[in-house]
Amino acid sequence: MSIHLGTDIGELRGMGEAAVRDCRRLGIVSVCDLLWHVPYRYEDFTLTKPISRLSHDDLVTLTGRIVQISSRPSKNRRVQLTEALFENETGGLKVTWFNQTYLERLLRPGMEVALAGRIDRRFGTTTLLNPVHEPPGVNLQTGRIIPVYALSGSLTQRRLHTAIEASKQAFEELIDWLPEKIKQEELFFDLPIALKTLHFPESQNEISAAHARLVFDELFLQQLLFAEVRKQRVTCQAQIISIDIEVLKTFVAGLPFRLTNAQRKVSWKIMQDLSKEVPMNRLLQGDVGSGKTIVAALAAKAVSVAGFQTVYLAPTEMLAIQQHRSFCRFFPSEKIGLLTRTNCLIGEKEVSHEVMLKTLASGRVQMVIGTHALLQKDVQFAKLSFVIIDEQHRFGVRQRHALFEREGVSVPHLLSMTATPIPRSLALTLYGDLDISVLDESPEGRLPITTRLIVPGKEKEMERVLVQELNAGSQAYIVCPFIDPSDIEGRESVQEVAERLKKGCLKDHRIGLLHGRLSSSERDQVLEAFIKGSLDVVIATTVIEVGMDVPNATVMVILGAECFGLAQLHQLRGRVGRSDKSSYCFLCPKTISEKIQERLQTVVSCQNGFVLAERDLELRGSGNFFGQAQSGFPDFRFASMYDVFAMKKARDWVRKFQEQDPEYTQYPSVRERILEVFEDVHGE
Ligand code: ADP
Ligand code: MG
Repeated sequence: MSIHLGTDIGELRGMGEAAVRDCRRLGIVSVCDLLWHVPYRYEDFTLTKPISRLSHDDLVTLTGRIVQISSRPSKNRRVQLTEALFENETGGLKVTWFNQTYLERLLRPGMEVALAGRIDRRFGTTTLLNPVHEPPGVNLQTGRIIPVYALSGSLTQRRLHTAIEASKQAFEELIDWLPEKIKQEELFFDLPIALKTLHFPESQNEISAAHARLVFDELFLQQLLFAEVRKQRVTCQAQIISIDIEVLKTFVAGLPFRLTNAQRKVSWKIMQDLSKEVPMNRLLQGDVGSGKTIVAALAAKAVSVAGFQTVYLAPTEMLAIQQHRSFCRFFPSEKIGLLTRTNCLIGEKEVSHEVMLKTLASGRVQMVIGTHALLQKDVQFAKLSFVIIDEQHRFGVRQRHALFEREGVSVPHLLSMTATPIPRSLALTLYGDLDISVLDESPEGRLPITTRLIVPGKEKEMERVLVQELNAGSQAYIVCPFIDPSDIEGRESVQEVAERLKKGCLKDHRIGLLHGRLSSSERDQVLEAFIKGSLDVVIATTVIEVGMDVPNATVMVILGAECFGLAQLHQLRGRVGRSDKSSYCFLCPKTISEKIQERLQTVVSCQNGFVLAERDLELRGSGNFFGQAQSGFPDFRFASMYDVFAMKKARDWVRKFQEQDPEYTQYPSVRERILEVFEDVHGE
């Protein structure tokens, strides 16, 4: 059978119904999807050595014979051990497998095999632990750099390796859209080669080179899209909003708190932007809790007073609901809309989707808050003049574009907001020519959050404070990292932690769980219960809402803290310390070393997100803390916000094209790619 990109994976040999179902959960339906399911790490089994020269912890491939093999329960009877004697011309050694007794029937004495695994020499004997096996010379599971893939259900590495091997010929069909000129000058692999290399690498250098090509693709595409959007924007005008200062002053005077100086300054800047015909394009950065919402609300008020509409885009349903509530509280006399996949409200009143659409189109509602649901084509506005995007890095350039390409003469003013502290130069490169404002002052009366590093074994100290705070009526978050990226939904880690704590220190408390396996309504129920106070603790993966504002939560426990970036830890910490009660953040690494201690200590002693972000940039060389699943940049699978050099390179290439051939007439594949992306926007 010949295999193509479009071939259904069910047609590959050995892919049964269950495997097809498991693959679907990972988003793999066709061979093309399979080829794009790239490994998240590698194990290097290229090393072979004489048996007598093996050292502890070596990763090796050994080829030889099984001499004998048998199984027995371990001393405490918890696992079944299968033990074999293995030999080749360089000597013999013991092989041990855990809970794989079927191997006894598979690997018969006298059989020739290749084994790949880790060497253990701690107890005097040399043992090969839990190796994978295959016939000598096959070199799929052994004897090479072995890619490790995210799994789901009962899927195994072996099954994926075999499936990808069987699909090898389809790599050639991948269409390479990158201009020859760039590939030649930058010495990039062709796309089929780059992708194939990630699955079948021969060296670490090859992996890096392949990765660099794919990183560039994403950044180049992003810069191309920015350039397109920019071109459209400069030819357009925005609605001039005439600002009614008196109304705003009265509103501010009625707030239960005084605006900080930073909030005043930024608000003033925004008012100036709004009163121009050049469309505003401003990024508002502010640490968590710095009070961005009120700044946005004030601007929306100004727009509404002038008789125009505002859209507020939130990255999640929960945040949309929360911000809708804040806006309703700020403006009790205004009718404020909420539009998400499952919610349609005008003020407090539930309405049908049709009524909502009609009301927006007629202009009777002047502020609407919502999620991606607002980007659908059937959502029309009477007088949309202002768009606010919260946690803007959660939206791809495509989604942003969707709001701006609506017909009409004027484009809306744009205010993006982010709590991800991106260094200024980086933000400019990333987001193009926008204006940046920073809220660099936290509201009065905020107590610093007591942050403590809890080394492994000392968890009791953390538990004491946690229970004490809960007993005093406060609430707490507990965050766990993904145990293994193959647990893409984070369910296992959350459940494991919950079970442990329910038996332990939290046995008298009400616990809710949040992980990626929940449906969005199940998630919302948990969050709602936590906000209302009918849950004391939520245990969550980092998918926990970025902007959650529950002032009664005073404890944040971060398990496996060494797995997170500093800026990310700081963000998580920002979920607490939102009232005048004192708050605590516990960093609980699973393992400790001098390096980890030093890194986490930075978060303990520093409460400034921007400083921590800069530190992250510096430490970047020492490891990638932003796993794909956690990076939160929808435009990127390979690139991260720290690929500064590649980002500049991509921007320079786009500039060059813009000068020489702005319509990409010589590069039809580039033009096609741009159109393809923009067409996709509404399909999501
Ligand atoms: P973020 O910047 O993280 O989005 P929010 O806008 O959610 O922060 O504000 C956090 C909390 O601080 C909210 O409960 C808000 O009402 C409150 N807040 C905002 N500005 C001030 C201020 N100037 N003084 C006191 N509290 C404030
Ligand atoms: Mg916010």
